[in-house]
Amino acid sequence: MIENEKASLSIKKIMTIAILLIILFGVGVIATNINVNHVKIILSNNYEMQILTTKTKISDILEENHIVVLPEENVMPNIDSELLDNKTITITKAYGEQDVIKLAEANSEVSIEQLLGDYTPTIEKIITEQVEIPFETITKNSSTEVEGANQILTKGKNGLKEITYRAKFKNDIEIDRTILSEKIVKEPINQIVQINKNAVTSRSSAKREVVNPATTSINNLAKKVKGKTPTVKTFNTSAYCSCTKCCGKSGGMTSAGVKASSWYTLASGSVYPIGTIIYIPYFKDKPNEGWFIVQDRGGAISSNKLDVYMGTHSQAIQFGRKNLECYVYM
Ligand SMILES: [Zn+2]
Repeated sequence: MIENEKASLSIKKIMTIAILLIILFGVGVIATNINVNHVKIILSNNYEMQILTTKTKISDILEENHIVVLPEENVMPNIDSELLDNKTITITKAYGEQDVIKLAEANSEVSIEQLLGDYTPTIEKIITEQVEIPFETITKNSSTEVEGANQILTKGKNGLKEITYRAKFKNDIEIDRTILSEKIVKEPINQIVQINKNAVTSRSSAKREVVNPATTSINNLAKKVKGKTPTVKTFNTSAYCSCTKCCGKSGGMTSAGVKASSWYTLASGSVYPIGTIIYIPYFKDKPNEGWFIVQDRGGAISSNKLDVYMGTHSQAIQFGRKNLECYVYM
């Protein structure tokens, strides 16, 4: 009797656990069936992607896969709508109405060769990177008759910004880059220096305020600014060449309308007029002895950035990015 009771108790236990397992498994299967969609995304360059998603709203699915729709592109179905039964999202270049009709008419006659010709296996990636924003140094003259060395009133601090861009790759080589957004993570703090009287005795910063490198140089650009007093400023300096990667176009034509020359041409933000002469001591041993002239503009160049034109792309890459002290003659 006791033996029997024990046996039926353990059978009950096993049954209960089995039923629980079946229920759990069942729920799992149902959940999977409801939530996961196999979606096909066709990009405007005819590139097709197959993705798995739990999202149903078109904009959510695109965002999840880091696909940014450009203003000149159309999305089918509408970006704010839900996924249709065919589970396909198509991104196309926006055409005028006329073109759409023409395309629709021509569509039936498009040959396989034509379709293959249009197919370019370009891979797009959305990349986010953080870049330092160098601080600026602002000098001000002492209001009272203070003697002695110059004083740093506020110590400068570099800021930080986050740049998100869409890069296109073909055979793992980046062929195009479009900046989508720039977000300031941390604003730079300007360094404020008080220039005191008789501060010439101090070793570094004060002397640089007084000495005009143009007076001793025999460089042609230096001769033009002999009488001018430079403003000393730290610039975040990078380099570029005339290739499509650096300029988006090739040919090396500057904004000033002349051909860019190495050890001569600088690109700056529009704060510095074309023709502004800038001396960069870092390059004093180069053929130009450090003397440059602003001849070019760059897309994302702000007032604290300079771009030095170099003969080859590898030279530009090798130079990288440096915070350099510059003498600006305006
Ligand atoms: Zn280049």
